[in-house]
Amino acid sequence: MSSHEPEVIVPGHIPPIAMTELDDAQAAKLATIAHHVRGILTALGLDLKDPNLAETDLRVAKMYIEMFGGLAEGAEPKVTTFPNEEGYSHMVMEKQIPFYSMCAHHLVPFYGHAHIAYIPRERILGLSKFARILEFYAKRPQLQERLTEQVVTYLEEKLQPLGAMVVIEARHLCVEMRGVKKPGALTVTSALRGIFHQKQVREEFLDLLRRS
Ligand SMILES: [Zn+2]
Repeated sequence: MSSHEPEVIVPGHIPPIAMTELDDAQAAKLATIAHHVRGILTALGLDLKDPNLAETDLRVAKMYIEMFGGLAEGAEPKVTTFPNEEGYSHMVMEKQIPFYSMCAHHLVPFYGHAHIAYIPRERILGLSKFARILEFYAKRPQLQERLTEQVVTYLEEKLQPLGAMVVIEARHLCVEMRGVKKPGALTVTSALRGIFHQKQVREEFLDLLRRS
């Protein structure tokens, strides 16, 4: 691996891997992915001596390890909850949280925004944690439906709130670049728990969502 290659730092909470600090297992994983990327390029009839392709195998392997960082051991965010000392019993919402993920069916990106809300019981969550939980589950081959469920389940298990709700709006490049080719189409998923089954509570969620 050449040392002059610029390290691309992608903003995120899971730190990019420092390639100098790879342990044997990580180095083996990197080499395996790179090997298979070379196989794909060769099968496509590309000339690996093309300077633009010379290090593509390793570049893609590094990128995959980073983009799929949610699968790594210890990647689960350390989420501390706090006692709800004020007895707050209304809705807490974090909206328009951006995320990027990879479609498990096609291995191309889907990306958009999540809106996450819960109504606390005895524990509350630091506000920055919504984004970290979302990112942890997004950084793996994923389905939007499953991502939505995983985030709401996490909140339910960690906080045991009165209820929780997650809405995700995303664009899927597998829909836009191939197949039916519908540029700009937005896929919306939602998942809810507890008190959000009540229409009135869901309406409050939607009302907060509409406010800018
Ligand atoms: Zn897809």
